[in-house]
Amino acid sequence: MDGHAHLNMQRKPFSSHSPSFVAFGVLIAIAIFLGVTAPLSAFDGKRNRDDKPVQGASYSSFFEGKNQSLVSSGWSACEGEISWSVSSGSLGAKMFARELVRLQSAFDQWSKVTNLTFVYLGTIEMSYDPSSHQLSSDAMPTERHIAVAFMPAADSPLLTSNVYGFGMPATVLRSTKSIRTGEVIFKKELVESKSWRDPRVLDNLYLHELGHVLGLGHVNDKSQVMYPVIRKRTALGSGDQVGSLALTKKCADQ
Ligand SMILES: [Zn+2]
Repeated sequence: MDGHAHLNMQRKPFSSHSPSFVAFGVLIAIAIFLGVTAPLSAFDGKRNRDDKPVQGASYSSFFEGKNQSLVSSGWSACEGEISWSVSSGSLGAKMFARELVRLQSAFDQWSKVTNLTFVYLGTIEMSYDPSSHQLSSDAMPTERHIAVAFMPAADSPLLTSNVYGFGMPATVLRSTKSIRTGEVIFKKELVESKSWRDPRVLDNLYLHELGHVLGLGHVNDKSQVMYPVIRKRTALGSGDQVGSLALTKKCADQ
């Protein structure tokens, strides 16, 4: 029907990989650049166009193959803390508290290797635009902030059956390749599902999506968190660590 890559969502399962845990792999690159109005095009969930594994590399940039001028974009470690807030998506209080701990632990892991400081602000009611995929709220900081939302699948066209979340840098300052804001959306039903006997899947998912927010893309290496199929990895791999540190802009670089 179309020849466009834009939001051409495929429902086809990732049959080339172990189905033991649900594959997801949508990596959308909708990013509104400061001072630039045109958003990046969205990419579909097909592995062959989305994943772009770099042979022999243990990490890749989120923008690899999408926008070469932004490859190597990352957060600055020299501008103070990065705040984050969560929209609970009406998850039950007990469940939300549990996931908050899990999220905090994922942030902590990334913080340890990047030296970035993440500070939890609290819950914020956010609205979501299903065409731009942007989360917004008047209560949300517009700089150095990561928005996290638990969202019913019905609310986002990207949360198809085998997609359990997506994350991305949301704004990037083009001149310095500095990521200014990021956002992550998790499928609410996944968190609520009783069929998930092993919570390590959620640990893996949270780490993975935050990795995208930090500027990492997928790698074709099952031992890394940035491998696009979620399993039960609860710790960052060596490539995840090296990559996130490499992308993070140190004070000396600036
Ligand atoms: Zn991904």
